[in-house]
Amino acid sequence: AGSENAAPLQTAGTPAIAPPRARVEKMSAILERFCADMASDSHLSTFSKDQDVTLHFTLHDLGLGFYLSLIHGQVTSELGAPERPAPVQLQMRAEILDGMFTGTVDAMECAMNGELSFMGDAAKAMTLQHISPALERIYQAARAQVGDPGDLSATPGSVAGTEQVAQVTEAHDVRHDMVTIVQELYASQVITATGGNISARVPGSDNEVWITPSRLFKGDLSAQLMVKINLDGQSVTPGARSPSSEWCMHTCILARKAQANAVIHAHAPNATVLANTGLPFLPISTEAAFFGNIPRVPFLMPGTPELAEAVADAMSDEWAVLMINHGLIVAGRTLRRAADMVEIIERSAEVILGCYAVGREPPVLPADAVEHFRKMGDIVA
Ligand code: 13P
Ligand code: ZN
Repeated sequence: AGSENAAPLQTAGTPAIAPPRARVEKMSAILERFCADMASDSHLSTFSKDQDVTLHFTLHDLGLGFYLSLIHGQVTSELGAPERPAPVQLQMRAEILDGMFTGTVDAMECAMNGELSFMGDAAKAMTLQHISPALERIYQAARAQVGDPGDLSATPGSVAGTEQVAQVTEAHDVRHDMVTIVQELYASQVITATGGNISARVPGSDNEVWITPSRLFKGDLSAQLMVKINLDGQSVTPGARSPSSEWCMHTCILARKAQANAVIHAHAPNATVLANTGLPFLPISTEAAFFGNIPRVPFLMPGTPELAEAVADAMSDEWAVLMINHGLIVAGRTLRRAADMVEIIERSAEVILGCYAVGREPPVLPADAVEHFRKMGDIVA
């Protein structure tokens, strides 16, 4: 009972767990002010002259929604849903919207990790990028006027979600992911019988790493065969197999790159041909454009600290490095993302080489698109 009762005020479906009434009312008041101020904003009005777009935002944890229409000089914005389904629909928790417009949360990153779901016309959604400074200004003013919405992360639905994720991670054994990924990479022929290795930070530890064993056939590794080492390469488990001979390359990268949680070294044939021939890695597609012209290191003996040092240096502002006469190495926020990048690089190298093979310079994306996707590369990794 009391003011923390479930709120009747809902405009966007019913959340799984009823959120506290006070929080919904506060957020609703902020959004109402926000909508009214957007509708009368002169900057938005000028901007809207050559626009035809409606953005519909849904805060699914609070059951709230609002829309913003910018149509030929006419700005309309109200709580609730627009009359006709909007060409751009964005769904997120209230905490994410609040963070986006107060500058504590990166919208692009949220789109990548699933915190923000997007449906509709991608070109029209770009409008949001152009008007986000104005929306931030208007939202922050509305928020200051109505008052702080309180701890939005404590909304029941989202807390349950977070707890569940935490539990899953705790119970989850990253070695099973390593087995899946190494099998996938072996099947796609970028890791060979004896070439390539992968590693992942031990969840919850800042100096321990799981790594594949050395010299064993890569097509048939099991979770029990993975070796736990510390960042100095010392095996943590007595009686375990020898860790990959490239452990130093893996730990050097993980020690220097705080955002990286996984490293994959592949003997990817097309990427290696590109490295060996000196041909550039070109932005031939949106996904290839994430990487720029991937840095290369000269041949250095595999398994040596010199190679590890050279690779980690080359990777300081990048997520991938080509090793001439050897292969490819990629770091990622997760094993999954690192494996995705290995595949993108290998398949793109194949297309680039195919163009050169028939005597044609590979066509590349326009400069502004290249710049846009290159910026996104860091988020994708
Ligand atoms: P490991 O079998 O020791 O991991 O070595 C394979 C490799 O690719 C060396 O560069
Ligand atoms: Zn190798």
